[in-house]
Amino acid sequence: MQVSNSTSQANEHKFRGKLIVLTGPSGVGKGTLVQILLQRHPEIYLSISATTRSPRPGETSGEHYYFVSRTDFEKMISDHYLLEWAEFAGNYYGTPRLPVEQQIAEGKTVLLEVELDGANQIYTSCPDALRIFILPPSFSALEQRLRDRATDSSSAISSRLKRAQIEIASAGDFDVQITNDDLETALHQLESVILP
Ligand code: 5GP
Repeated sequence: MQVSNSTSQANEHKFRGKLIVLTGPSGVGKGTLVQILLQRHPEIYLSISATTRSPRPGETSGEHYYFVSRTDFEKMISDHYLLEWAEFAGNYYGTPRLPVEQQIAEGKTVLLEVELDGANQIYTSCPDALRIFILPPSFSALEQRLRDRATDSSSAISSRLKRAQIEIASAGDFDVQITNDDLETALHQLESVILP
């Protein structure tokens, strides 16, 4: 379903539970959307993922991610510490289970920002989660954004773009699709499906 500003579409989803899964190709602007959403709605709990990726400039462990070694990540997997996990562009990413379960038990709305494999795992384990896919206005716009961001090597950008094609092809499996063309419009659409 493509989100419009229609109230009936928003209503269709507002009782769908408290776990929100946000997915979309690398470079689509999920991070910016989430950051503004949390500033406006601090009651929403954003899960902090574990990753084996190296921190980018300005990223700190415990705030943006928990940056861990591959050995530590593999121990998290075998200890069933993760609600979901996936390998993306050569690194592991995963959602620590306990904080998510605790926040949901406390009645909070919990937001996960994950790639496609993780979103599919959540669909299997938590079918009531509301799954939202963020689309770029076009593939070339996505490519431009990844290159302008200049946070990844050219081989990492290529691997992210390859993955982006697969992810975008699955967008229709999600409950809601939002195109991030104009930031404020996309935010408004996100708020309309997430907030009670
Ligand atoms: P980045 O390296 O750009 O921060 O993230 C790469 C991809 O990994 C993004 O699509 C992001 O949404 C996804 N990601 C971040 N955290 C997790 C996680 O805990 N689990 C999964 N499956 N994907 C994640």
